[in-house]
Amino acid sequence: MKEKKQLRVDPIKNGTVIDHITAGKALQVADILNLQQTDNLMLIGVHLSSKKMGKKDIVKIENRNLTADEVNGIALISPNATLTIIEDYRVVKKQKITLPEAIKGHIICPNPNCVTNVEQVETRFIIANGTPVEVQCAYCEKKYGIEDVKFRF
Ligand SMILES: [Zn+2]
Repeated sequence: MKEKKQLRVDPIKNGTVIDHITAGKALQVADILNLQQTDNLMLIGVHLSSKKMGKKDIVKIENRNLTADEVNGIALISPNATLTIIEDYRVVKKQKITLPEAIKGHIICPNPNCVTNVEQVETRFIIANGTPVEVQCAYCEKKYGIEDVKFRF
């Protein structure tokens, strides 16, 4: 028998495949989607080999569509990810993720003196740079690398 060179990830019947996730970021994607609190079938692949990227992560979730907010969150931590919608084992839609211009809520400002931390103000971050992703708080105007902020979804 010929040895399989690549790990196979089983297909899903209906749901969403998030592919080409930056290697090592799948668990952060799972966090954004609150996948720890779901009963849906899901497959998470970390450090899979990819022709295009060398290594990549992948997340497949059955019976789940993503909200625009969730897609924006994924774009921030993995700007090259792709979304595929599967229905009855067939690809019905493929979509490249694009970085939003700004994101409301969801990012916690690391600046303890920022008004969003002192009062109950919803945060707003402007995407200041694409690669690497940098965000700027619309309130205290401080800039942060995406690795330095915490998300709340
Ligand atoms: Zn701030």
